[in-house]
Amino acid sequence: CGVFGVFNVPNACSLGYYGLHALQHRGEESAGMATVESATGKFSYHRNMGLVKEVFDQATLECLPGDRVIGHVRYSTAGESRLANAQPLLFKYRDGDLGVATNGNIVNAPSIRKELESQGSIFQTTSDTEVIAHLIARSNKDFVSAAKDALQRIIGGFAFLIMTNDKLLVASDPHGLRPLVMGRMGDGYVFASETCALDTVGAIYERDVQPGELLILDKDGLRVDRFERLERRATCAMEYIYFARPDSDINGINLHSARKRMGRQLALEAFIDADIVTGVPDSSISAAIGYAEQTGIPYELGLIKNKYTGRTFIQPSQELREKGVKMKLSAVRKVVEGKRVIMIDDSIVRGTTSLRIVNLLREAGATEVHVYITSPPFKNPCYYGINTPDRKELIASQKSVEEIRLAINADSLYFLSNEGFIEAVGGNDGKFNRGMCMACFDNDYPTPVDPNSEKSCSC
Ligand code: 5GP
Ligand code: SF4
Ligand code: MG
Repeated sequence: CGVFGVFNVPNACSLGYYGLHALQHRGEESAGMATVESATGKFSYHRNMGLVKEVFDQATLECLPGDRVIGHVRYSTAGESRLANAQPLLFKYRDGDLGVATNGNIVNAPSIRKELESQGSIFQTTSDTEVIAHLIARSNKDFVSAAKDALQRIIGGFAFLIMTNDKLLVASDPHGLRPLVMGRMGDGYVFASETCALDTVGAIYERDVQPGELLILDKDGLRVDRFERLERRATCAMEYIYFARPDSDINGINLHSARKRMGRQLALEAFIDADIVTGVPDSSISAAIGYAEQTGIPYELGLIKNKYTGRTFIQPSQELREKGVKMKLSAVRKVVEGKRVIMIDDSIVRGTTSLRIVNLLREAGATEVHVYITSPPFKNPCYYGINTPDRKELIASQKSVEEIRLAINADSLYFLSNEGFIEAVGGNDGKFNRGMCMACFDNDYPTPVDPNSEKSCSC
């Protein structure tokens, strides 16, 4: 998911609209914004299923007055795709309003929820974000202290924007698993999951929100506090590998450049000769350029993505698929025909995508297809908001590299090493993996996890 917030900028919802649009790749299922007019404390909101451009139009934006906003785009997950879970979630709180927008996942949400329900709480949604609102509402402390207590109780990976009629709170989990940045705009502040949203609205990047930090913004301005001390920074490796946009920076590292280095590293670890290098659009183009630069093998556009195949596009039936109807990706026949192709992709999860793409290239006349992956084998599920299936569906957890190669019909297959990946990202902020979570590769989760709890993104 993606979150975007504005504090003290007139007509905040129009910034929210463009900011959320820049974060659309982080979630296409639903979009929403809540605004506050600081002079009156008036709360307004609008949210719905669909893309930002479908959910909002001029008329709905005119109904969102104010100089503060929190906004959200939700990642599409298998199960709970319904309006009640669209964020920001809104609650009545002490004669006023409370809005919450989250990116991430709370690992212990099911157990807290069970406990609160046994004490009489009634939940309106199946989203674990609601847990934080209940914890805040049940406390008899002041709002900021209650929020701090609540943040200390939850375990997981999350970036929170929490807004009341007079305050905005911004928090990042104690390991900084999910990215969150702060920018300035005149006297105001802008918060976003990625820097690309700051650039889009013309805000000046100031810094990343630090793990365990709690920022409090109200009529007295910004106050920096923490709810937990930093023990281990563990920024999600998959953000570097494929999730975030290439024009964004995380912890000061530009993602296009990092992905290029991953491609270079692949060539250093396992060079193979071929006629062309191609990347699976969009996330792996940077890495393919890196591999080509390192080896001198020409980079070519062997695969094209159709940008317009959205979530609402009618999926072809099995029969149409067998007739060769392809929606998302096409191979460029004149480019790949008769060529030995190195195909770079970011990850293999179930393996179905890779098989499809290898076959596309072969049908278009490629004589050899060598698959190079810019991540280590994805063996363990994510509990922190990246949507992954159970271990039994993770192909790298079930099969050896050679068995995967056979399953995806490739001539060769190589996964980037853990060390090579860490070196390519180039961070140096922490002892473990130089500040990254790599649990889906190395099974070293930065928090306790409950293997029986929900794993998918419920943000
Ligand atoms: P699979 O191997 O499961 O068929 O597909 C993996 C591909 O799906 C990767 O190239 C990755 O870019 C893309 N992808 C799209 N959504 C997700 C997601 O939620 N999680 C992961 N890990 N990969 C995803
Ligand atoms: Fe990211 Fe993997 Fe860690 Fe999940 S387990 S936060 S996908 S690195
Ligand atoms: Mg991909």
